Amino acid sequence: MISADTFDDDPHQELGVDVDASLHDIKKAYRRLAAKWHPDRNTDPQAVWRMQRINQAYQRLCEWLEGGGAPADDPAPEPDAAPEPEPAPEPPQRAKRAWWERNWGFAKWEADGQVVPQAIAAQAHVELESAAYGCVHQLKGFITDLCGDCAGVGRWISPRTSCSVCSGEGRVPGKRSGQWAGCTHCGGDGVDRKPCETCQGSGHAAKAREYHFEVRIPAGLPDGQVIVLRGQGQRCGDQVSDIELTVHIQPHPIFHWDDQGELCCTIPVDLYTVLGEGIVEVPTLDGHLAKVSMANGSQQVLLGMGFPRRDGTLGPLHVRIDTITPRHPSAAQKALLKQLADAVRADATSCPELSTWQRQLKARSSARSRSSR
Ligand SMILES: [Zn+2]
Ligand SMILES: [Zn+2]
Repeated sequence: MISADTFDDDPHQELGVDVDASLHDIKKAYRRLAAKWHPDRNTDPQAVWRMQRINQAYQRLCEWLEGGGAPADDPAPEPDAAPEPEPAPEPPQRAKRAWWERNWGFAKWEADGQVVPQAIAAQAHVELESAAYGCVHQLKGFITDLCGDCAGVGRWISPRTSCSVCSGEGRVPGKRSGQWAGCTHCGGDGVDRKPCETCQGSGHAAKAREYHFEVRIPAGLPDGQVIVLRGQGQRCGDQVSDIELTVHIQPHPIFHWDDQGELCCTIPVDLYTVLGEGIVEVPTLDGHLAKVSMANGSQQVLLGMGFPRRDGTLGPLHVRIDTITPRHPSAAQKALLKQLADAVRADATSCPELSTWQRQLKARSSARSRSSR
């Protein structure tokens, strides 16, 4: 039989098209000739031989035009809707092999080169102290690898074979008569597919693979950072993707982050300690207590007591004072508060608004007593 490699005649002449014929013209000519020479319809002893030559010529021209870069607006050759010849005159075994070579010898994977192992996204939730001083995270999970035999594609595609479901039409009769529906087997392009024998067409390994890594989380890793485990992800033959581990720092009962991403601690302090410019203790990340004076205001910065930076230095700890007014004072507290209030009233300098008010009241009462006299 004739193979594509031995077809030396001019394929244009075989199909009866001009040398500058477009893919559209070539396809039209091919269909016309295939309809004429198909051995099912044509009893001519030459029919099988002619059909093979027509197929080879068509295939050669398509390869030339595709390989040579057909114009962008030139539609890609559609699959042959014409029925493929069955080499009836040949003995059954040989006929089968010939049919296979003609139809599937040019098969390729459906999406060759387009399916690559995907990076695996993983999450680690660590405590603030662990992120600050570094820790080892136990990363466990399951990965479903891609089928190495079909590179995850799942199905062969044969440009030379019409879809077995829709006979290359790309559509099948719908539920009602006269209606059509897209062919789901070929996706509407009319080209036949075969599932990969290894993965039965799924493109994936049958079972997920368990993984377990001890990932070192370096000290001072900010929230949301990604640690990449190179070549530990999804496998597809020789290719392996990465695992991308996003590290999330869990909310902390004492510390939080301010808008600038600096560590912050909000401390409730009673009104009297604030007024009395007392000293309060502030917890630091390393478990110690620092002392701050209320004389320095309600927002303070403790340098070198915050979250570690990547350069090894320590960032600042921002301290916010939340002034609390005590509720429901006891009798003892009331007595002390009365003493305080008396002292405040007696001291004109500590509360000038009060002194002014007292003067205004006094002036009014003396004016009233003058007018009543
Ligand atoms: Zn496969
Ligand atoms: Zn189809």
